[in-house]
Amino acid sequence: MPTPRELLHSIFGFSDFRPGQEEIVEAVRQGQNTLAIMPTGGGKSLCYQLPALSREGVTLVVSPLIALMRDQVRSLREAGVEAGALTSGNTEAETDEVFRALDEGRIKLLYMAPERLASAGAFALLRRVGVGLIAVDEAHCVSQWGHDFRPDYLRIGELRRALDVPLAAFTATADAETQEEIVARLFDGVAPATFLRGFDRPNIHLAFAVKASPRQQILAFAAARKGRSGIVYCATRAKTETLAQALREAGHSACHYHGGMEAHDRRAVEIRFQQEDGLIVVATVAFGMGIDKPDIRWVAHADLPKSIEGYYQEIGRAGRDGAPAETLTLYGPDDIRLRRSQIDEGLAPPDRKAADHARLNALLGLAEATACRRQVLLGYFGESSEPCGTCDLCDRPAELFDATEAVRKALSAILRTGEWFGTGHLIDILTGTATQKVRDRGHDGLPTFSVGRDLSRPAWEAVFRQMMGRDLVRPDPERHGALKMTEAARPILRGEEQITLRRDTVKSAAARPQARA
Ligand code: ADP
Ligand code: ZN
Repeated sequence: MPTPRELLHSIFGFSDFRPGQEEIVEAVRQGQNTLAIMPTGGGKSLCYQLPALSREGVTLVVSPLIALMRDQVRSLREAGVEAGALTSGNTEAETDEVFRALDEGRIKLLYMAPERLASAGAFALLRRVGVGLIAVDEAHCVSQWGHDFRPDYLRIGELRRALDVPLAAFTATADAETQEEIVARLFDGVAPATFLRGFDRPNIHLAFAVKASPRQQILAFAAARKGRSGIVYCATRAKTETLAQALREAGHSACHYHGGMEAHDRRAVEIRFQQEDGLIVVATVAFGMGIDKPDIRWVAHADLPKSIEGYYQEIGRAGRDGAPAETLTLYGPDDIRLRRSQIDEGLAPPDRKAADHARLNALLGLAEATACRRQVLLGYFGESSEPCGTCDLCDRPAELFDATEAVRKALSAILRTGEWFGTGHLIDILTGTATQKVRDRGHDGLPTFSVGRDLSRPAWEAVFRQMMGRDLVRPDPERHGALKMTEAARPILRGEEQITLRRDTVKSAAARPQARA
């Protein structure tokens, strides 16, 4: 049987679990009775779909939402999963086909509307086809006091008793009374494994920084937290080794960890980390699964993570004890280029690639946020919140400026040079720096030449980076990373939209001599 993580990649095409999903999937897969309370949009469906696919037998999914069931069945089938629905929306032919598939053992996930449970023979049918797990979506519908009460939901408890199989209940309604009612009616009052998780981890301080001298930035962050356990995530195996070495030279106790190490060496690091106080593990994302250390005080990313889900999961390893913990994520234009080209050069079909770009955009949106980061992060997971007071942008609000003109100048430099050049050359043109290459190409004769003298070189670098972060421009993998304009930039170019960027390193050219003038 494939593992849930393998299925997450192969069937659903997601790079990581969302917050809380993995624990729930594991509990359900092991056959525990579970109650999971997750915010809407949190990704509940996967929490029963993945266990269904990595267990023997049929999983019965009860849901009151017919359209949702039909959608899920359709997309599961497209992904090659054997699924079927018995709902009032079915045609007779569809229903016949589901019954046939059930009889031939060709169904892993059977979706059923609650009213179907009332029909004669339903229990017998479910027993006959070998239902091994019951998943109940919108489990609060069992609550008589709630506004969504469905009388047929009361049969589910009876069904669980009749089939004697584990049951996993899901809801977004978190109040204690509803929970009690769910436990009483679906689990006969015997408390199931319960997962109650909003996404917010308010004890974790969030911070991002643009890579300037990354090694020094990590060393400084670690130095200020000396003696406290932490994790540094790196994008490559080689980097985990050199950075661990640098940390040791700076007097820390540090070791590296990656998937290329022998299993017993990895195990040794895990045990040391668990037992020792103040150890730093410098690792690839291979480190983390199964690490259950409550007092990790900080997590740093030496490189931009792969996705917002990955980011959340990795920083979420800090401060499980609820005491304050700190994080720092470094990123720069090279990270953006690397992550984009990993997507572009992958073998995924075009729509999957587009989705991966969109997910990367979400992470970059977080990196380039102009106000409270936690609001952006929680917003991505569907939770709205107030400014948090424990992120770098709440600590020190970013200085913003109307960058519409600057962005239009940059876009015009890109277009006038045929989308054939990278940031360095474009900035030379904008700042009026007549390098050999600029003169050879005649770019000192362009109308855009030197129109950007009002901003310094670092200021332009920040503008280009934020433009990449907002997906206004993309490095073209077929042109050695030359920047291309995306459709998203067109309204700005046309003057139909304004854009606000962070001033960051932006200083006026007058105040600061140009680096390469
Ligand atoms: P819920 O039922 O909790 O409201 P869904 O199961 O419908 O949420 O999931 C909400 C959205 O999140 C869906 O578009 C789903 O594809 C997406 N999603 C779920 N899990 C993941 C994941 N691990 N990575 C990326 N996207 C995910
Ligand atoms: Zn904040």
